[in-house]
Amino acid sequence: MSSELATYLSDASGYKGHAERLFVPADELELSNILRDASQQHIPVTISGAGTGLAGGRVAQGGWVISMEKFRKLEIHRGWARAGAAVSLLTLRDTALPSKQFYAPDPTEITASVGGTISTNASGSRSFRFGSTRRHINALRVAFVDGRIAEFRKGDKVDFNVPHVPLPNTKKCTAGYRLEPGMDWIDLICGSEGTLAVVIEAELQLLPLPAEIFGGIVFFASDEEALNAVDTWRETGNLRMLEYVGKSALDFLRARFPEIPATAAGALLIEGEDLDGWDDRLEAANAMSEASWFSTEPRDRERFRKFRHSLPELVIEFVTRHGFMKMGTDYAVPVPRNRDMLRYYQQRLEKELPGHYVVYGHIGDAHVHVNMLPASGAQAETASALLKEFAAKAVEMGGTVSAEHGLGKRKAGMLALQYPPEHVAAMRAVKRHLDPKWLLGRGNLFPSDAA
Ligand SMILES: Cc1cc2nc3c(=O)[nH]c(=O)nc-3n(C[C@H](O)[C@H](O)[C@H](O)COP(=O)(O)OP(=O)(O)OC[C@H]3O[C@@H](n4cnc5c(N)ncnc54)[C@H](O)[C@@H]3O)c2cc1C
Repeated sequence: MSSELATYLSDASGYKGHAERLFVPADELELSNILRDASQQHIPVTISGAGTGLAGGRVAQGGWVISMEKFRKLEIHRGWARAGAAVSLLTLRDTALPSKQFYAPDPTEITASVGGTISTNASGSRSFRFGSTRRHINALRVAFVDGRIAEFRKGDKVDFNVPHVPLPNTKKCTAGYRLEPGMDWIDLICGSEGTLAVVIEAELQLLPLPAEIFGGIVFFASDEEALNAVDTWRETGNLRMLEYVGKSALDFLRARFPEIPATAAGALLIEGEDLDGWDDRLEAANAMSEASWFSTEPRDRERFRKFRHSLPELVIEFVTRHGFMKMGTDYAVPVPRNRDMLRYYQQRLEKELPGHYVVYGHIGDAHVHVNMLPASGAQAETASALLKEFAAKAVEMGGTVSAEHGLGKRKAGMLALQYPPEHVAAMRAVKRHLDPKWLLGRGNLFPSDAA
């Protein structure tokens, strides 16, 4: 295997794969020809974006890899951008900035590509206000597995029958295909994890930058107070970010951020457009107001973003150092079950893996990530069992097994946890309709490929 190919055979979760050939098409004609050849020769094809995925989706298990890295077109217009699949969210952000506009989806990992974030329907910290990627796409240009190129605008309906598969009552869900009679192509392809079509480029909505944005990291002396604040602040209406850093995660961060107040037992990261009333809110919530960090300066907000982002980075660094893959949850529950789920996590983790986990994430959407920090094989086995147990619990509470990362290959078995057999069968029928030989993204979403 060439060393060039090897760099495409893992993702940020540490999952590893293998493949026979790498293709890096320069344009859609070349892409189309590669897909047509693969189809004729029955060769599985895996599409690679920036490789920041956490579910092994871009990691081939045989066949060919197509990297979309040369699709770098980027045009900024008033209210929208036209972006090639390989454009990173960082480039999109920086190129849109001079026109005082921004692209709302923010999966915090800004090296992720437009194609990858569409394919996983990524969301992240600002989804509390703006929802997931799907909502921000005006048009998609795609290639199907037979090499056919198509462009779909919002509202262009799929041209075959699709049943209704009910969604859980969560604020986010990206487990499996979204299916609804009369649905449009964008809703179907977005979140399909490279199994239905290759995203070539997209027309994305840009929003006007607000005149002022404030950011804050608010510390609390107890977890209970932090959670009470979440319940109150969720209703305030002017927040676009409401993120949680539990005590375990704060303690994990202390080595890199010694300025975290010694007595803090929990923190909330917030971002909003109107500072008015926040002094009163902090006081009413019994926050550690003096010790908390607040700013309207973009430089400070970037510092806060890095503070939050260093959590998944440090988690990945820790597990890699100990020879393991990332072991984290991506489950969301209905908002009223948020505390029940957190309580369950806490009790089980303290019993089975005390000191070897962190809890943080998108609490505004009742979607926190539990990440395990195993230091031995035995702990990794316990962690793995807990991840499965937590998935079952989230589903029992009416939740989803994937709110934003997708299932990829690492979590493909979980589709059947959330959906009854007839709904999984309906998803498989859609896959078969668009990719009869089951070649695109083989192994993603469905553990077995038997078409
Ligand atoms: C530190 C860290 C923090 C993260 N935080 C978040 C978060 O808060 N929220 C969140 O949603 N995600 C988060 N992620 C996960 C990740 O950034 C997203 O899943 C992202 O959408 C992946 O984009 P990518 O370009 O890296 O895709 P890849 O990893 O390359 O691929 C992901 C999937 O998309 C498919 N794909 C890629 N490009 C295309 C294309 N052009 N056409 C068709 N299919 C394609 C692949 O086959 C694969 O199935 C985080 C990751 C890291 C490392």
